[in-house]
Amino acid sequence: GTIKIGISACLLGRPVRFNGGHKASQLCMEVLSQHFEFIALCPEQAIGLGTPRPPIRLVGDPQSPRAKGTVNRELDVSEALSAYGQQAAAKLHDICGYILMQKSPSCGMERVKVYQDDGHPAEGGGRGLFAAALMRERPDLPVEEDGRLNDPVLRENFITRIFVYAEWQRLL
Ligand code: SF4
Repeated sequence: GTIKIGISACLLGRPVRFNGGHKASQLCMEVLSQHFEFIALCPEQAIGLGTPRPPIRLVGDPQSPRAKGTVNRELDVSEALSAYGQQAAAKLHDICGYILMQKSPSCGMERVKVYQDDGHPAEGGGRGLFAAALMRERPDLPVEEDGRLNDPVLRENFITRIFVYAEWQRLL
């Protein structure tokens, strides 16, 4: 059958972002969709944040940041996002890869802004909390960010890793 991969729902043009917008990716929707069946998730919607919603952002230690509200500073969705990432990793046991939306406090794979007490982002940034949980639970799963897939070398490498993973899964 078709190989399934997970994807941040906003990359498929679904209007799920905090501002009601999306981040439609031509590459995902027109090219990669020919090779793979997408399973689309929006972690922020899934944990009960509506659309539109006040944005959240990462704060604190870049190695283990927390995800908190910007408008409502009391809002802390760190545990909810991590738990949802853990659940998704188990539930989507048959996915063979995942495409994440870059820079998101939930879905970003790397260099997501992590704000410090002085209001400035920490050097180097961190990882979104859904992505962190998914990658912790499924350390062998091929994962990439949409932005990096515009690089043909990284893209080919990612696609190869997905096929290798799919083969390996079928052998288990
Ligand atoms: Fe939802 Fe992730 Fe896209 Fe944000 S980046 S809108 S949490 S799918």
